Amino acid sequence: MARNNFIVAIDGFSSCGKSTVAKALAKELNFVFVDSGAMYRAVTLYFLRNRIDLKNKFDILNALAEIHIDLIPSTTHTQILLNNEDVSDEIRQMEVSSNVSEVSTIKEVRQAMVAQQQRLGSHRNIVMDGRDIGTTVFPDADLKIFMTASPSVRAERRFAELTAKGEEVTMEEIQQNLSHRDHIDSTREESPLRQADDAIVLDNSELSQEEQLKFVLAQIEKIKSK
Ligand code: C5P
Repeated sequence: MARNNFIVAIDGFSSCGKSTVAKALAKELNFVFVDSGAMYRAVTLYFLRNRIDLKNKFDILNALAEIHIDLIPSTTHTQILLNNEDVSDEIRQMEVSSNVSEVSTIKEVRQAMVAQQQRLGSHRNIVMDGRDIGTTVFPDADLKIFMTASPSVRAERRFAELTAKGEEVTMEEIQQNLSHRDHIDSTREESPLRQADDAIVLDNSELSQEEQLKFVLAQIEKIKSK
């Protein structure tokens, strides 16, 4: 593709398989994949380590000024650096998952992340996944996909992902974490998770990864042929 600012926005609830589709698509198209949730997770890790009071705007702004996040994107995964330290694994741990949605409700945090995400997409073909990519970060994205999957499928996927990494979690903890995050993400005041009016819904409860990729590629073909 000759263009250098083709943007695919993939939004949806936690553990719907957004990153899996986004990564596969980026690889197929030779686009850059950006995992915007990883950025909110990195901020959360910093806040936890430094015991930032989430009610104190002054502390939050000072902390944000100290935080430097680098995404080393590739077509397969995003390595995430927090002030030059590779935190790609640590940000996936349950402690971060349990706190990330509260941190993501903070307006100042969102403003800082959205600005950086928009810069990342200004001169590149990218696939970005998150919660507000098609509504707030790139409202003019070329293609918007809104992913859903049944709650049990989502919990099973997250359980398999974490236990494969050796983390000790129960299915119940996972289910609670997912519904807690869904609730906060979709009811927060600042750019809540919602389906953009022009997004195409992809329910992947019953679809294989190949089928999902095929579905999204077909949408891209439709856009290209317009
Ligand atoms: O995508 P992931 O599940 O890693 O995102 C972690 C959390 O970050 C979400 O539950 C949500 O609270 C927040 N997030 C967000 N906006 C985004 C991406 C993630 O608020 N664009």
